[in-house]
Amino acid sequence: FVPDRRSGTKAALSYSRLIIAAGGDVVQPYSGKYIFSLRNTQDGLSLKKFIDSSHPMNAAVIGGGMIGLEMASSFRKLGMKVTVFEGSPAILPGFDTEISAPVERYLAGHDIKIIKSKASASDSASGGVDVSAGGRSHHYDMALIALGTKAAAQLAGAAGCELGAAGGVRTNLKMQTSIPSIYAAGDCIEVKNLISGKNVYIPLGTTANKTGRVAGINAAGGDAVFHGIIASAAGNILNMTVARTGLSEEEAGDGFGEIASVVSESASRADYYPGGSKITSKLIFSKTSGQLLGAQMMGKEGVAKRIDILAVCIQQKMKLRDIAGLDLTYAPPEAPVWDPVLKAVNTALHKLGK
Ligand SMILES: Cc1cc2nc3c(=O)[nH]c(=O)nc-3n(C[C@H](O)[C@H](O)[C@H](O)COP(=O)(O)OP(=O)(O)OC[C@H]3O[C@@H](n4cnc5c(N)ncnc54)[C@H](O)[C@@H]3O)c2cc1C
Repeated sequence: FVPDRRSGTKAALSYSRLIIAAGGDVVQPYSGKYIFSLRNTQDGLSLKKFIDSSHPMNAAVIGGGMIGLEMASSFRKLGMKVTVFEGSPAILPGFDTEISAPVERYLAGHDIKIIKSKASASDSASGGVDVSAGGRSHHYDMALIALGTKAAAQLAGAAGCELGAAGGVRTNLKMQTSIPSIYAAGDCIEVKNLISGKNVYIPLGTTANKTGRVAGINAAGGDAVFHGIIASAAGNILNMTVARTGLSEEEAGDGFGEIASVVSESASRADYYPGGSKITSKLIFSKTSGQLLGAQMMGKEGVAKRIDILAVCIQQKMKLRDIAGLDLTYAPPEAPVWDPVLKAVNTALHKLGK
């Protein structure tokens, strides 16, 4: 049923093929005048309007994932005092501690406080927000809730489409749901992780665009497939890029034999060339087969596209020995003669004794 805004009634439209692209819903257990979340442009505009008119001096961010930390970084840049509450032992879910711990220290060095505790928020009687965490109450001028997204799968579920264990609508490679005339794409679906083989719910714009395109082609009578993802993602936190692809060490638990990892440091440009900065890399690989399974990096320049190189290697199921032979560029202002990708891979090969 589609609402007709002019008549105020609902009209039933028939279809031969339907695409459901209902997106995701933010996990928003707390609401109030001073409590915000960020899902769409309207949310962003409301938040900006509040900041421009009320000039908050301090902010709480509940949730230390990528969006929470990017928003904490933006609030800090606006001059606010910022506290991030994270309910699990480490910030940045999906990253291993060799990356999340230095990011945490970096944030602390820029006056962003992290409190490792589950928090709840409610408007305060005196204005602002009371955040309750670990048996203590903290007061802030505003709070942003960044607890993630869940698939908006209700419409598809009500239509009888099968939902998956990860919470999203299940589709085949053509983005067709269990009802052949209904396709689904974007943040409302779950997709296959091509490395672990498991279905996952990782709502990203990259996947939404690809799956939307495939659903559209097929619904219009064409022929296209989407195989899955390897969970490549990047974010920028106070000018520090953090990026990941493939499996984390924790995720790489089953099916690859003995798992090993290495952490290495490298320069983004030739050492002698001015203006470069440090890149920290972690590689996760199978000690048994030498296959690269995951990569994570942090640094101030050249990080996201290097993770993209490793994403290609991981998606193609390449072994460390083959990656070490990649012909990558060297020019002092752009990269050292041993690119950070190659340095990380050589460190891993050294650990393998090869
Ligand atoms: C703050 C933030 C930062 C992000 N940053 C990145 C990033 O850096 N990189 C990245 O890859 N991804 C990022 N994402 C994720 C990315 O924005 C989403 O994956 C992408 O927008 C999903 O697109 P979609 O079309 O599936 O869903 P949406 O963009 O959510 O669109 C779905 C639309 O459907 C509408 N709708 C729902 N139900 C109905 C209905 N029954 N009838 C009519 N309309 C309906 C909704 O109102 C909504 O407008 C970010 C997300 C957020 C919130």
